[in-house]
Amino acid sequence: MYRTHYSNQITEELNGQRVKIAGWVWEVKDLGGIKFLWIRDREGIVQITAPKKKVEPDIFKLIPKLNAEDVVAVEGVVNFTPKAKLGFEVLPERLEVLSRAKSPLPLDPTGKVKAELDTRLDNRFMDLRNPEVMAIFKIRSSVFKALRDFFHSNDFIEIHTPKIIATATEGGTELFPMKYFERDAFLAQSPQLYKQIMMASGLDRVYEIAPIFRAEEHNTTRHLNEAWSVDSEMAFIENEEEVMGFLERLVAHTIDYVRENNLRELETLNFELEEPKLPFPRLSYDRALEILGDLGKEIPWGEDIDTEGEKLLGRYMLENEDAPLYFLYRYPSEAKPFYIMRYDEKPEISRAFDLEYRGVEISSGGQREHRHDVLVEQIKGKGLNPESFEFYLKTFQYGMPPHGGFGLGAERLIKQMLNLPNIREVVLFPRDRKRLTP
Ligand code: ATP
Ligand code: MG
Repeated sequence: MYRTHYSNQITEELNGQRVKIAGWVWEVKDLGGIKFLWIRDREGIVQITAPKKKVEPDIFKLIPKLNAEDVVAVEGVVNFTPKAKLGFEVLPERLEVLSRAKSPLPLDPTGKVKAELDTRLDNRFMDLRNPEVMAIFKIRSSVFKALRDFFHSNDFIEIHTPKIIATATEGGTELFPMKYFERDAFLAQSPQLYKQIMMASGLDRVYEIAPIFRAEEHNTTRHLNEAWSVDSEMAFIENEEEVMGFLERLVAHTIDYVRENNLRELETLNFELEEPKLPFPRLSYDRALEILGDLGKEIPWGEDIDTEGEKLLGRYMLENEDAPLYFLYRYPSEAKPFYIMRYDEKPEISRAFDLEYRGVEISSGGQREHRHDVLVEQIKGKGLNPESFEFYLKTFQYGMPPHGGFGLGAERLIKQMLNLPNIREVVLFPRDRKRLTP
């Protein structure tokens, strides 16, 4: 065993005891009669102090010969002393080089020399050695845990639906076509139809956390071609408000979880994550258009609110309502997909909503149309052919409860939570128009 403790596990009770530390060489300092070595592991940094009189001559000679990012293992005795920058040091009894690092490095993992995002992504393994970058992925891990925990503690069942599909979910564009033996198929852009089919099965409350594939051609800071979608669907709801109520509690729980469990990471990122306040404000589409009009941005009724409009609203809601998170709802039916239910008394308005975080959409959802004949009409109304939805429509004819749900983009959530400039920051190996390796 090369490691008995991570750097952050060395506490005062270990003073005078022997530990094994393993990691990458962060820095070496040679002061003649005393040599210093800082080793970085996943959780932080440990200082190794080697005074000539107190350590083996071999170790004393080896330290100055180490290169930045060599992999080393040290066994030594913990010494808590105010003289050490970190409050403690380790006096080495054994030092082993496990792997050498070439020089120069493809990028500077200390972050002192800034690199372009492309260079960083080309060398992601090295980029992650920067504690700030690693902090993002520790937070990402927490986010997925918090989401799963919350679903399970609310009686949701995890499902897994196919990612190779025959029909487009919402018709046509944005799909990656692929060959499926003799037939044409697509990579799934959403589990929408399948999670709805599950509402006819009696599973009642389901969720799926899985990749979605979208052939978005444009290069933006919030689109990926492969993203992770947090999808959920629940049966026996009376209206879309029940879905919004669940979604806001899910998101608030996730943010709270990160606030409580990633203190060190948030500190590393020098980021203060605000406590979410429930309920999130609900802003109707009509009201949003009014606000935008006052801000000098006219959007014709019926059209989707574009990126610029979203941004303006985001700023408005933060400044006037102190709300980084809020819902946009009561969208025009024409701006939303066929499976969304419309208000019977006002069919031009739909039961769809978006959840916005700092002016960027992180989730879309709504109550679904569960009445077979109405659904068929809505499919036709969008210029689609009901025959290509046969496998889906069938399930609406043998007992389909009222239901609703949402799709929440995991990367959008994390990007907006940490207020990062680019969605690629929260993906290990992003897939975009240009990027297929690594
Ligand atoms: P947008 O209009 O912002 O491109 P959308 O309305 O097309 O998004 P939906 O189909 O509503 O997206 O998907 C549900 C959620 O999945 C979105 O709110 C978003 O969080 C996430 N999402 C959708 N497309 C992408 C993508 N290309 N990259 C990353 N996340 C995405
Ligand atoms: Mg959407």
